[in-house]
Amino acid sequence: MSDCLFCKIANGEIPSNKVYEDDTVYAFYDIDPQAPVHFLVIPKTHIGSCGEITPENATVVAHCFAVIAKVTKGLGITDFRVVSNCGPQAGQSVHHLHFHVLAGRDMTWPPG
Ligand code: 5GP
Ligand code: ZN
Repeated sequence: MSDCLFCKIANGEIPSNKVYEDDTVYAFYDIDPQAPVHFLVIPKTHIGSCGEITPENATVVAHCFAVIAKVTKGLGITDFRVVSNCGPQAGQSVHHLHFHVLAGRDMTWPPG
């Protein structure tokens, strides 16, 4: 999608601090980290949010989770939280599906 921030980050048009990349998934550190480790994992194809996952596009979503497991392992992280905000009331500010991966501090529950 031409005016989407994360599409532009995924295709290199906007620079980011890359953690991982393959043909279908891109991962990069959050610009405003909420934990000592905070990166985002996104599909390169534009999916608006968790609310737009379908049987047709779910393969890349599953791959995002495989990437999360691989990258955390590579960073030596065993304890972490994965968050995806869907819609403004839940705190979504960028309308391109992304999974926050947060680690390196105690996490509270329930989230605010
Ligand atoms: P959301 O609020 O949609 O759940 O998460 C969007 C995340 O994207 C936020 O944590 C925000 O800090 C991050 N973000 C917004 N713009 C940029 C950017 O230009 N670069 C990077 N690396 N992260 C961004
Ligand atoms: Zn997008």
